[in-house]
Amino acid sequence: MPSSDQADMQDRYLDFINSPFGKSIASSLGLPMPVRLKRATAGYAAQPLAGVTALLAADAEATATGQVLAALVELGAAVQIAPAHPGLAPLKAAAQKAGIALQSEGGDSEPVAPVIVFDATGVSGAASLKQVYELFQPRLRRLPKHSRVVVLARATADTGSVEGATASMALTGFVRSLAKEVGKNGSTANLLVLGKNGDAWVKGALAFFTGANSAYVTGQVLTVDGAPKGVKAIASPEASLAGKVAVVTGAARGIGAAIAQVLAREGATVVGMDRPAEEGALGATLAPLNGVGLALDVTDPKAPERLASELISRFGGADIVVHNAGVTRDKMLRNMAPHLWDMVLDINLGAILRINDRLLQGALKDQARLVCISSIGGIGGNAGQTNYAATKAGVIGYAEALSQVLAKQGMAINAVAPGFIETQMTAAMPAANREVGRRINSLAQGGLPQDIAEAVTFLASPLAAGVNGQTLRVCGQNWLGA
Ligand code: NAP
Repeated sequence: MPSSDQADMQDRYLDFINSPFGKSIASSLGLPMPVRLKRATAGYAAQPLAGVTALLAADAEATATGQVLAALVELGAAVQIAPAHPGLAPLKAAAQKAGIALQSEGGDSEPVAPVIVFDATGVSGAASLKQVYELFQPRLRRLPKHSRVVVLARATADTGSVEGATASMALTGFVRSLAKEVGKNGSTANLLVLGKNGDAWVKGALAFFTGANSAYVTGQVLTVDGAPKGVKAIASPEASLAGKVAVVTGAARGIGAAIAQVLAREGATVVGMDRPAEEGALGATLAPLNGVGLALDVTDPKAPERLASELISRFGGADIVVHNAGVTRDKMLRNMAPHLWDMVLDINLGAILRINDRLLQGALKDQARLVCISSIGGIGGNAGQTNYAATKAGVIGYAEALSQVLAKQGMAINAVAPGFIETQMTAAMPAANREVGRRINSLAQGGLPQDIAEAVTFLASPLAAGVNGQTLRVCGQNWLGA
């Protein structure tokens, strides 16, 4: 029997709609029909795209095609081209140079490849955007369920022209709208913006965005640029965290427990922290992972020093720190007692700054990667969440600002902004609000803690070596703050 919390965390509409009876009712009444998403069931393979066909296209002036093609082949994909598409020249030149055999796509009655990558790094002005239309428009009706679309654009500042910057920006609107269209069949569309040093680091980002690990990430724009000093390109996405030590705060349950599990799945040793009242749950989460539990409130004035000395004495420092512990204490500002403001600000923001300040004094290893959990509430704002949204927006600004400092030390920091995720936090919402929260996104369903854990693990790993100072929303493209 599920507990009442578990029952509230279960999306019964999604279960119903994916039954034969539910499907027929929904289609006759025109109700939303969310597709049950396919998520990763094991760690990354050395070649996560082995056995997968990827359709690769490019605009006629594209400049990243060689790196993108090589990355797809190294990830194991069989690469297909659209023989009638106008932008074939850079693709054929890159394939010839690398000695890679390209397959031609089948006819109009054949299914479309479940991974489509469009290198649009050369688009310039309005007319050249037609190449994107020409690739996607005829294929969308045949797009399989659970497909992955990735468009690559050059960063506007690196296009070298007003026309290039204009076209590059136009792609953000294109991809965000495409994501809303393809979400109906459980597919995603995301834009990778390549900075001038980004091409060499595209492989790790492609591994994440073309796979099951990004099932709930759609309509997002992420910049890939140069990696921090001393970082080497990944050979393989498999077990990329082997030998790394990762700290996760709020690890006893919910999203934090899932983060601990997915980091461990990729090979990390996890040090999980949670409030002393959660010691039992913390142990239950960490024992199967062979992790270490620290019953320590993040706001305890001694927490930074205790964590630092534990890390140094046991492991010589940490490679990964995930600031996940967080609380809501919602009240309209006019009714908010000062202690509700102080508590949320201290747990969700103050403690992160204090702990990092201490860890940065010798408790982090070379090339450490930090990840903070924000929220789409910090982007769009919510009535009754002035305290919470202030902290979650603060985290975004913090990651952006600190990234500049950390890059010089060979380290990186990013944030993840969850949307509606099925946890005890959202199970506590009034039923009507919860149902609205679940549906108002392109995939018409809530995310699972695993979805946040996959994004955190990507950002904490060498797959995201070229990603620093950014906030990745994991929200199914929630309309809030979209
Ligand atoms: P959760 O189920 O309430 O879990 C949070 C964990 O953090 C709990 O184990 C909690 O312990 C712990 N924690 C709270 N205060 C702490 C402190 N002072 N020191 C150490 N640990 C502490 O919440 P969740 O839904 O997994 O949320 C995790 C993070 O995601 C939070 O930062 C939250 O703001 C963010 N987020 C969640 C959603 C969502 O839809 N669920 C959406 C956006 C953002 P106790 O049980 O003892 O309090």
